[in-house]
Amino acid sequence: MKEIPFFNYSKLYCENADEYNRIFSNTCSKGSFIMQEELSSFEDSLANFLGCKYAFGVADGTAALMFSLKSSGISPGDEVIVSSHTFIATAAAIHHIGAIPVVCDCRKDSSFDYLSAEKLITKNTKALMPTQLNGRVSDMEQIFDLAYSYDLKIIEDSCQAIGSKYKNKFAGLFGSSGSFSFYPAKTLGCFGDGGAIVTNDDDIAKQIRELRDHGRGDNGEVLRWGHNARLDNIQAAFLNFNLSKLQERISRRRNIASIYDEMLRDKKDILLPPAPQLNSKYFDTYQNYEIQLDRRDGLRDYLKMNGVGTIVQWGGKMLHQFKKLSLKNEAPYAEKMSKRMLLLPMNHMLEDEEVKYICNLILSNKY
Ligand SMILES: *Cc1c(COP(=O)(O)O)cnc(C)c1O
Repeated sequence: MKEIPFFNYSKLYCENADEYNRIFSNTCSKGSFIMQEELSSFEDSLANFLGCKYAFGVADGTAALMFSLKSSGISPGDEVIVSSHTFIATAAAIHHIGAIPVVCDCRKDSSFDYLSAEKLITKNTKALMPTQLNGRVSDMEQIFDLAYSYDLKIIEDSCQAIGSKYKNKFAGLFGSSGSFSFYPAKTLGCFGDGGAIVTNDDDIAKQIRELRDHGRGDNGEVLRWGHNARLDNIQAAFLNFNLSKLQERISRRRNIASIYDEMLRDKKDILLPPAPQLNSKYFDTYQNYEIQLDRRDGLRDYLKMNGVGTIVQWGGKMLHQFKKLSLKNEAPYAEKMSKRMLLLPMNHMLEDEEVKYICNLILSNKY
């Protein structure tokens, strides 16, 4: 039997330990802890990778989402439509700036369902906030049409989609600003919490710079109420190294998705995510590999018995199913999906043999 954890956190460090130790020692021995050269160098590299004007490191993805909403002019009382199939942080960011999250459905590929979103638009609706879930961008053409018709802003939650593209454009660059999370298990992760905001807009850039650093401008003058939400310099140093490996790691994830797809595509009881394709309008990066099946819990137990870790996203509850939050919603597909969804192991550290072992367990039908 093989032991394949859902995500091997210690391997993430161990596979390049010498490099990380060198980075740690170089950065710390200089005393470079807060907003130093490593942070600006990471921000430049990230902006360069995405081909945008600005990138700002912040404390985590949730802070990135909050600042993204705030700097786009979303105000207390405004309604923002989010997909039911997203992390609680998407809705929490809206809530914490005083706005109101309204929950729409998701589509078969887990993306933001613009059709159900349209039914939820009121005179208070100010923005659509599609989550680019599992490393796949939502159908942005349709979402742009909808936003245009009702004069709404688009604010992406691209925390799961660094490097993903739709019609050759990177996730994070579709709205006024985009947000990323560097939680360790994210495609670009660090060794703790971290996040970033990217934008091409000078005014938004100015606001983010102030919001993340106590509301201060360049000369230390306080220009507004701000937060302490800077990306740690040491995490930026690690991220600089990890960013240099990002393209390679994304290719590896796409390879793994192809193996899953080739081995499992004929299995009629399982719905797979779309396979990686060249020359398609989607370039998916597979932050997660999410399958859907009726016997989800049976498969989960059977894989666990055989050493394979899986995860049910959000603990099996879509956003509006957290009863205590009383969110307004319209999400029948997401409700069905909540009982059927399962994440198989997916990260650049997996070996082909491990992926095939998982597929063969699934193909055995013993669940
Ligand atoms: C990871 C993630 C976030 C942000 O998470 P942090 O832990 O705050 O970095 C937001 N939205 C989605 C969809 C995510 O997966």
